[in-house]
Amino acid sequence: MLEKHEYEEFRSAVRRLAISKIQPHASAVDKEMRFPEEALEAFKELQLVALPFPESIGGHGGDLLAQAISLEEVARVCATSSLTLMVIWAGLGPIARYGSDQLIDEIIKPALDGDTVASICLTEIHGGSDVWGGKTKAEHQGNDWVLNGQKRYITNANRSEWYTVLARTSEEEFGIFAVHKSDPGLSFGKLESKMGVRGSPTADVMLDDCRIPEYRCIGDSGKGNHYMTESLAIARPMIAAQALGIAQGALDAAIEYVKERQVFGQPVARFQMTKGTIGDLATKIEAARQLLYHACEASNNKQPDARVLASMAKLLCSNVAMEVTTEAVQLHGGAGYLTDFPVERMMRDAKITQIYEGTSEIQKLIIAKSFLSN
Ligand SMILES: Cc1cc2nc3c(=O)[nH]c(=O)nc-3n(C[C@H](O)[C@H](O)[C@H](O)COP(=O)(O)OP(=O)(O)OC[C@H]3O[C@@H](n4cnc5c(N)ncnc54)[C@H](O)[C@@H]3O)c2cc1C
Repeated sequence: MLEKHEYEEFRSAVRRLAISKIQPHASAVDKEMRFPEEALEAFKELQLVALPFPESIGGHGGDLLAQAISLEEVARVCATSSLTLMVIWAGLGPIARYGSDQLIDEIIKPALDGDTVASICLTEIHGGSDVWGGKTKAEHQGNDWVLNGQKRYITNANRSEWYTVLARTSEEEFGIFAVHKSDPGLSFGKLESKMGVRGSPTADVMLDDCRIPEYRCIGDSGKGNHYMTESLAIARPMIAAQALGIAQGALDAAIEYVKERQVFGQPVARFQMTKGTIGDLATKIEAARQLLYHACEASNNKQPDARVLASMAKLLCSNVAMEVTTEAVQLHGGAGYLTDFPVERMMRDAKITQIYEGTSEIQKLIIAKSFLSN
């Protein structure tokens, strides 16, 4: 844990970077549906890709709160760029946590420079919510594993060097595997056209007799569900941080707009109803932020309620993001509906935070289960 002022200094550094190097490209990345290469380059200045990884392997050992702050600040200007960073962490994270020294030397250490893009492949056609209903199989053949199946809606597909794949190793068990883009039998579906986070590539990942060497099985071949359950508890606060950043960016843009825009001979900011809206939205954002930071602390301290708090933070922050971005468009009037203003993009981007890494309904089930089973 850092001191409070150290987190705030870190936030200021990420905000400066985001405003100077990422924000200028956010609109083009969305409109042209292109990977945010400028953001990937910018992350290197603060070595953000290395942030969550342990110092013992060359990372910065940044805790979950530091990770959340960095995603929040990047998402404040560009949700696509925050998604890129988050998924690189999500793809590499299980390898760093559970992988052998050989995998860490081969994959993680070179990736810390910030040039490697990674994916996490869980979702399948039969339903992302039912993650353990997946049918992708990994079969041990001689000194190899052979993977067969199809993963759906995979972020960074086609752009990643490494794909961390969840696959069934027996009727009951799952393993996770590191698949390289050049491995035989790996291919990609068409790039999906999306409502938001349009600069982030999304496609199916096909594994057709995809043969990888034995050592690329990450950790124990029967513990994949345990590894992924732990990993999702870390990933969910990160989506919450992304949602919070989008909400903050939309509120900041709306405040700037209503101070400038004159209607009935005065700035929109002077109307009492506008003040009421701003007061409500700012309060909701701060409440969501406090829950998220509490969830991060719980995870840092390995508290038993960390998983439930992570789900609560994702549920609340994503709902707040949807509400704040919708109101931010409203505060802009007709201008908010135009692609010339960032709030239009932010409203589209916010929606995905209620869907991926477990929909809001799935978060509610996790939360309710923890209370009902007591
Ligand atoms: C842009 C984008 C990027 C993504 N990136 C990745 C990625 O990188 N890696 C990856 O593995 N996946 C990724 N996903 C997949 C994402 O995590 C899933 O879409 C999500 O988990 C929901 O799964 P589904 O789409 O199959 O919805 P479904 O599971 O089909 O759900 C449909 C509806 O049913 C509801 N529902 C389901 N079960 C229940 C229940 N028990 N009770 C009540 N309601 C229920 C859901 O909440 C939802 O409203 C991505 C998706 C998108 C759109």
